[in-house]
Amino acid sequence: MKLNLKNTFSKELPADPIKENTRRQVPEACFSYVTPKKTAKPELLHVVPSMAQALGISEEETYKKDFLEVFSGNAILPNSSPYAMCYGGHQFGNWAGQLGDGRAINLGEIDQANKRWVVQLKGAGETPYSRNADGLAVLRSSIREYLCSEAMYYLGVPTTRALSLMLTGDKVLRDVLYNGNTAYEKGAVVTRLAPSFIRFGNFEIFSSRNDIATLKKLTDYTIKYFYSHLGEPSKEAYVAFFKEVADKSLEMVLHWQRVGFVHGVMNTDNMSILGLTIDYGPYGWLEGYDLGWTPNTTDRQNKRYRYGNQPQVVQWNLYQLANAIYPLIGEAEGLEEILHNFSTTYDAKEQEMLASKIGVFTSQSGDVKLLHSLQELLQATETDMTIFYRELAAFKLDAPLEGLDIVKEAFYTLEELTEELKEKWNLWFTVYAERLEKEALSADERIEKMQKINPKYVLRNYMAQLAIDASDKGNYSVLNELFTMLLKPYEEQPEYTKWYAKRPEWARNKVGCSMLSCSS
Ligand code: AMP
Ligand code: MG
Repeated sequence: MKLNLKNTFSKELPADPIKENTRRQVPEACFSYVTPKKTAKPELLHVVPSMAQALGISEEETYKKDFLEVFSGNAILPNSSPYAMCYGGHQFGNWAGQLGDGRAINLGEIDQANKRWVVQLKGAGETPYSRNADGLAVLRSSIREYLCSEAMYYLGVPTTRALSLMLTGDKVLRDVLYNGNTAYEKGAVVTRLAPSFIRFGNFEIFSSRNDIATLKKLTDYTIKYFYSHLGEPSKEAYVAFFKEVADKSLEMVLHWQRVGFVHGVMNTDNMSILGLTIDYGPYGWLEGYDLGWTPNTTDRQNKRYRYGNQPQVVQWNLYQLANAIYPLIGEAEGLEEILHNFSTTYDAKEQEMLASKIGVFTSQSGDVKLLHSLQELLQATETDMTIFYRELAAFKLDAPLEGLDIVKEAFYTLEELTEELKEKWNLWFTVYAERLEKEALSADERIEKMQKINPKYVLRNYMAQLAIDASDKGNYSVLNELFTMLLKPYEEQPEYTKWYAKRPEWARNKVGCSMLSCSS
C-alpha cells in the first residue's frame, strides 16, 4: 500500500519539543509527536469503499494485513510522523483550558486527485492531551461515529468522513451513564478523514495564552491551505477568513435543522474551522419534533445544546473564535458586523429552508405565519419529523381535508389528536392548499423537489443501537444493512421500509436510544 503522504501541518507549524508521551500542558506548539498504541488483535469490521478509493487504496488492498496494521495504529508508514493536535475550548459555555487530541492521532495528509485528506485514528491511545482518560474508544461509540458521519455526507450535510472501522481486540472500561456502573466493552478504532481537523479551539488556546506568534502561524497556515483565495496574510484577509468560517458554520447548522440532527456537544473544541460536522458523540435525530430536545443526558439540566438552540450556539461559538483571532486584527468592527449579521442571515435562510420542506419555493407575506403555526402543531403532540415531511409530499391541493390522513403515520399516538387539534390541523391544511396554489410547480415537480430535501431514512438512535447490540455479539448484518441503506437516504428503497418507521416503544427510555452521555 503506497500512500502519497504529506505532512504540511507538522512540517510548517511549531512542534512540541518534548517527545515523551506524558500528560501535560504543551505551550507554544500546535501539536505533539506521538505513537499510536499497539493493539492486541485488530479486526476489520467495515470499510468505506469510496473513501479508500479517494485515498488511492484499491479494494484488494483493503483486505490485506497492511491495511489492518496501518489503520489500527499497529504499523507506522515510513513517511508518517503521527501527531496529536493541541487545542482548547469552551465546554458548555465555560473556558476549559487545554484539551487537545486526547485519543485522536493524525497519521499525515494524503494528497490524492487534487484533494487533501488528513488521516486520523480515533481511539488509538494516549497522548499528552489525554488528561485523566485512557485515549481509547469503544465499539459502541465508534459504530455511532462511523455510520453517522457517512449518513450525514449522503444527506448532503458538510461532515468529516470515515475510512474504516476496526476492533482492537482490547477491552476498555467505561461508565456509560456516569453512575458508577463500570463495565468492559470492546475497544475499537475509527479512521476518520477530513481536509483538516482544525477546530475553533485550536485558535482559542493560543489566544488564551497570549501567544500571538503561534496564533498567527496557525491562522496563516489555515488560510494558505484552506482559504487560499483570500490571499496573503493581512487584517483584511483575517476578517474575510472569519466571514467565510461564519458562512460555512451557518450552512452546516442550517442543514442540521433541515434533517433534524442534534449534535449534543457543540463545544468550541467540536467546531471545525472548515464548517464540517465533527465529533459524533451523544448526538441524536429528532423523532418527536421538539425544539427543546437534546439526546445528551449530561446536558439534561440546561439543555444548552437542544435542537432549537443550535443556530444560536453556532453564533456564540463564532464569538469565541472572533475573540481568539482579534489580536491579529486589533479592530472589532469588522468581526462584530459579521457576528451581528449572522442572526438576520440565518433567520432568512431558515425561513427559506422550512418553506422548501413543505414544497414552497417562492416567498409571500403569509409564509412566516404558515410556518410558525406548523411548528406549533408539530409540537402539540408527539409527531415524527422525518415521517411527517416525507409523507406531506403526497398532499393533494384539491383535498385539504385529507391532509391529516396523509400524514397520520407521523403521529406517535393518534388518540392524542383531540377534536380541537384535528380542527387546527384541518385549518392549517386548508391555508396550506391555498398557499401551494400560488406556486408555479406541478404536483409531480413539487414531490420530486420535496423528496430531495426531506430524507426518508435517517440514523435514528435505536437503529444505531441495534447495529451496536448485534455487532457486540459478532453479528455485523445490521451494521452492513444500515450502511448500505444510508447511502441513498432520499430514495424510496422499498426493501428497507422497515427502517422507515417511528421509534419503537422499547426504545423510548433506553440507554443508547434516548439517553446518551459523553462516555465513549
Ligand atoms: P469530546 O467531548 O468527546 O469532544 O471530548 C473532549 C475532550 O476530551 C477532547 O480533548 C478529547 O480528546 C478528550 N477525550 C474524550 N474521550 C477521551 C478518552 N477516552 N481518552 C482521552 N481523551 C479523551
Ligand atoms: Mg471533541
